[in-house]
Amino acid sequence: MYHHVKKLMFTVRVDEPDPRFGNMLLEQFGGANGELAAAMQYSIQGINCEDPDRKDLLMDIGTEELSHLEVVGTLARMHLKPMKFDRQAAEADPLIAIAGGGGVNLFNSQGNAWTADYLKITGELDVDLRSNIAAEARAKIVYERLINFCDDAGTKDALQFLMTREITHMKAFSLALESMGKPKFSIGRIAPTPGLVNQFFNDSTGTGENGEIDTRGPWNEGADWVFTGSPALQTGDGAPSIVAESSPVERPEGLDDLLVNELRDLLHAEKQLTKALPKMAAAARFDQLRELFELHLAETEGQVERLSECLEFLGPDRSSETLSRNDGPGRGRPGSHGRWEKEGRRRGRPGAYRSGAARGALRDFRIYDGTESRAAASPNRHRGAVVEIAGRRGERRPAS
Ligand code: MN
Ligand code: MN
Repeated sequence: MYHHVKKLMFTVRVDEPDPRFGNMLLEQFGGANGELAAAMQYSIQGINCEDPDRKDLLMDIGTEELSHLEVVGTLARMHLKPMKFDRQAAEADPLIAIAGGGGVNLFNSQGNAWTADYLKITGELDVDLRSNIAAEARAKIVYERLINFCDDAGTKDALQFLMTREITHMKAFSLALESMGKPKFSIGRIAPTPGLVNQFFNDSTGTGENGEIDTRGPWNEGADWVFTGSPALQTGDGAPSIVAESSPVERPEGLDDLLVNELRDLLHAEKQLTKALPKMAAAARFDQLRELFELHLAETEGQVERLSECLEFLGPDRSSETLSRNDGPGRGRPGSHGRWEKEGRRRGRPGAYRSGAARGALRDFRIYDGTESRAAASPNRHRGAVVEIAGRRGERRPAS
């Protein structure tokens, strides 16, 4: 819930009202990079967020932006006030002077109405955090320009405060993204096409009259870049051409991590069952029920063994705890998986069953594990993993 306190986050002082400057300030009130846009973007992202840690961050900063909106609004109102009675001032912005009575409204500096089209809300947390980092950078530079065009000392103080907070937010969003532990260029779950992803097309060539050049830099040379001539100019004389094949034979990078994470989820779930089932058997009041629990326990122990075997096939480092869930905090740090599981329990949320994906994989594993044929795999999103396991059982079974 929201609560309003009758105190500004930063006390505003205007020595010399300047209606034209007040008009420019509206850019940060009802503009694309303004405070309302920031407040709404983060708060709505927060409502959608399923990561409790970062949801808290989004709600904290979204709420602070509302306080900024109040500061900017108060500041703009003080600068626009002469429009109420001064004809010359009113001419600076008839929309504000005549329709708005010299007060602020949700317009940008050009009188365009605020719109939810300004907001970037994708429902993908890391993508949203990237949008927010960019939004803070834009807000910062807009404040900087306002400061450069400002003559009033009191106004400058308030703008300096607001500008500084944008950098604070940029820092927080950046660290929140970093702590998700996702590889830098990994967005979503579908891997990009190998080959094509590393091709840089030299689509603008030659030199220009104002010193424009055709150049190279870390954005198109070194590392795994393949510098390729413009596809539009290719004559087919053996120059490297656009990689256009689909369905690569080799496994895309990243699928291994996904597979290992899902297998870990399954293993954790099964291990939990091996702890719970003996207690349930001991507490059973009927022999038949106890026998069923014991049978289930034996089967579950078999699953634990097979899952551990699967992880071993994927490489010795995979079966250790060095790689954690892709959505847990502290991923990639040794021992962090256990910490995450503990946190999950503390929040009353059994870690292994938290995601629908894990549940789906568990179900699929039960159907297709062991010696089931590849052809039996259903056309669902875990099919790749099932085929992987089956393939690796054949290919890479370690000598026992
Ligand atoms: Mn702000
Ligand atoms: Mn901000």
